[in-house]
Amino acid sequence: MPLFKVAIVGAGPAGYFAAQALHNQQNEDRTFAIDMIERLPTPWGLVRSGVAPDHPKIKTVSKVFEKIAADPNFRLFANIEIGSEISVAQLKEKYDAVVIATGSHLGKSLGIPGEELPGSLSAADFVPWYNSHPDYVDVKVPLDCDTAVVIGAGNVAMDVARMLALEPSELDPTDTADHAIDAFKASAVRDVYISARRGPEHAAFTSPELRELPKLEHTNVVINKADIDAAIVRAGAEPEKEVKSNLDAMLLIAESQKSEHERTMRFLFQHTPKQILGTDRVEGVVYSTPSGDVTIKCGLVITAIGYQAAGIDGVPFENGKVVNIDGRVNENLYVVGWAKRGPSGVIGTNKSDAAAVVELMISDLKTPKAAGDISQLLTHQVVVDQSAWQKINEAEVAAGEPKGKPRVKSVKRDELLKLGLS
Ligand code: NAP
Repeated sequence: MPLFKVAIVGAGPAGYFAAQALHNQQNEDRTFAIDMIERLPTPWGLVRSGVAPDHPKIKTVSKVFEKIAADPNFRLFANIEIGSEISVAQLKEKYDAVVIATGSHLGKSLGIPGEELPGSLSAADFVPWYNSHPDYVDVKVPLDCDTAVVIGAGNVAMDVARMLALEPSELDPTDTADHAIDAFKASAVRDVYISARRGPEHAAFTSPELRELPKLEHTNVVINKADIDAAIVRAGAEPEKEVKSNLDAMLLIAESQKSEHERTMRFLFQHTPKQILGTDRVEGVVYSTPSGDVTIKCGLVITAIGYQAAGIDGVPFENGKVVNIDGRVNENLYVVGWAKRGPSGVIGTNKSDAAAVVELMISDLKTPKAAGDISQLLTHQVVVDQSAWQKINEAEVAAGEPKGKPRVKSVKRDELLKLGLS
């Protein structure tokens, strides 16, 4: 039976769902041997270093990933970076097809004065910092101020605002990095603004996330009811289902505001950031609003206004994405997930996206021609394979047990390698 060899670069949700789609397409005419290659010593991508730690349910999708990885025709090559020592061209020679699934992890910038000041950072740095990503442990997050501003009206902005406005002991039973829990416990931040440049009817939040906010036990969540009333009028008699659901959720918050807590998360709409003030560090944000300029004094600004993909040598990039048509890049090179379509959609969106690209790939694959695999390209690299990853995984989970946490993640590459390879 023809066996096609496929390399998937990137072990995040899009990569695993591409592997799953390949498994699902096996029949008497074809089987697939899948090698998944990952730059970090650990797989799972955003499920490990992006999803908010106070949302553990979203992370249960990792069980699906591990089931995919248990297939005898699946191999993990983690701790291997493609594009530097091993090129995409070399992979293309070895495999019948190569799938880029590297996501987009660079934060977009506002392009306004003051954005470079200490105390102004991107969610693309803040989120992996609190999620123990080894490359972001040293990110400077000044929490010695009473007010923080989060710019953007999407789910990442909401995750970031919630992490800043939570009572930090709520993070004790989570897998938040210890260095971040310590910093949040010492934090002076009590007021967190989350600012949207357009009205509530255009917010990119999703309603399940909005509906969770009133459940915060130690945080006042404040939305101005007049903002929502005006948005309902602007949205008209028959708003789209998602818009209506969002406005209903926001109205509920606006009508049942709490004020008894020390910590507050406050929504601002129709606030377009114009300038970040400060000399040695952030001191405030100037917004233009329908009623003129408004300044919010703050010592920390986090922008959560979208992501773009980082380039990989040998892969065409444009506008923060891999250049592709429906996932085809060029001969035997494909792309899935955020690197393909940009940073949109929830984790599950990657499933149908990857399945569609795999269908195209199968229509291109005629007879197997693969001449080897990545193991012939490795020289001095230290590989974390599936069994080494399982050792890391088990050690992290075991370290969490006595503390009542799902896991304690190691934050250093050499520690991770020691756990996996000793
Ligand atoms: P997003 O949903 O695209 O939201 C980006 C936000 O940034 C929008 O409100 C946008 O406003 C705003 N923005 C863009 N440029 C701006 C500028 N120059 N000035 C001010 N605001 C600006 O992106 P995201 O929050 O990064 O999320 C990415 C994807 O991951 C989304 O599909 C999201 O739902 C998903 N996600 C899901 C979860 C979850 O399910 N729990 C958690 C996190 C992320 P405009 O609309 O005005 O452009």
